Amino acid sequence: MAPAIEIHSEKLNLKIIEYIQVLGSCWRCAIRFTRERKPEAYQQKNLDLKQEPEEKVQKTSPCVICLGLVQDQFIKECITDEISQRVIESDYDSPTFSCTVSLPVAIMLREQAVWFLVTEKFPELLSTIFKIDHVTSLKDVWKFVFSEALELKLKKKLEYSSSSFQIQVNVLYQDEISECGALVDMCPEKFKHRYKQTRVYREGIFTRNAAHSVLSGISSLNFKKHYTLKVPNVGTHYGVVQCSHTSIHIAGRYQKFSRKLCQTPWLIEGEKHMDTSIQELICKHLEPFFKTQSVKFSSSGREDVDVRTLGLGRPFAIELLDPHRTLFTQVEITQVQIIINKSTDAIQIRDLQLVTKEQLSVLKEGEEEKSKIYRALCVTLDGSTLTAEDLDRINGTTELVLMQKTPLRVKNCIH
Ligand SMILES: [Zn+2]
Repeated sequence: MAPAIEIHSEKLNLKIIEYIQVLGSCWRCAIRFTRERKPEAYQQKNLDLKQEPEEKVQKTSPCVICLGLVQDQFIKECITDEISQRVIESDYDSPTFSCTVSLPVAIMLREQAVWFLVTEKFPELLSTIFKIDHVTSLKDVWKFVFSEALELKLKKKLEYSSSSFQIQVNVLYQDEISECGALVDMCPEKFKHRYKQTRVYREGIFTRNAAHSVLSGISSLNFKKHYTLKVPNVGTHYGVVQCSHTSIHIAGRYQKFSRKLCQTPWLIEGEKHMDTSIQELICKHLEPFFKTQSVKFSSSGREDVDVRTLGLGRPFAIELLDPHRTLFTQVEITQVQIIINKSTDAIQIRDLQLVTKEQLSVLKEGEEEKSKIYRALCVTLDGSTLTAEDLDRINGTTELVLMQKTPLRVKNCIH
């Protein structure tokens, strides 16, 4: 837990804000360094703050820390429209959302540079309880600034902790690679093997984790040797907006009446070996209902192609990945079950219902503990007739060792 802001006097805070603004920062980034965490403080211009330095220095250049991301002059009025348009098009029905913002690593370097400058100017700030990690994060400030507009446009509520529906906003910066080169100079060892691993220079070398491990604990002297805070030539821009929803799990039981039906698509060298499968017969109705593109079918054990499954049926579960439809009732699920059962004579399903991830483990446990009833047609090898005693002896046998060749189906199947 970060210490309360009152630890520094109001007067000192104003001095800090003024100093950071002179460095070329926007007023929001300057406030972040006072550990201000109230959303309101970032949502509208704080008239108590001196705005002049910002306007003088920053008329045409983006903020030296956030690269214009939360800076009034650089915020595109339509940005929340663009983001929400993309989310609305993807058609998720979740009433809530959480938002992750992925920021350029160059911003970490810039924050670090300002941190050294500020703590050298105001050494009284430095204490064991105030570290760079306590600076209010730019990601949070981004949400403070844009969340209200996004909530209104999406008609969904933002959950600061975590919603099942996530929107990822990617923020990009044209000079990212050239600025991050300083990290390699600061710690060549750290990146030596990364160059080898990723043959393409751009791909994943400057991750936030790598930058964090270089910057944490670095001395001011070493840092300054390789990096100088400069006014950026360009600001940030937005990349793709990605949406995703956590999986939904549906479970039930199936009976199988066909002796020519696989459980899952039977593929040999990428070619389908049979027209359809239990999975396909069920999922082709579930996929459009839940508006999902991808499913994972699992069951409590499996049977061979030519074996029927009767009785109560075999328990199965289906993970629906990234479902766009998440609001439904049990009545609607039962209706889908009726549609599935009407669509085929090969299988029938029952007890179709929503289950939690935890309940799925019961399905797996059941696989080990279940008992099965087998009915077998037996022949005597020498053609002799069995006596009543023979039958009693066979029926009385409770433990049998089966000698069986591995079925072809198991050997060839690729799932
Ligand atoms: Zn800024």
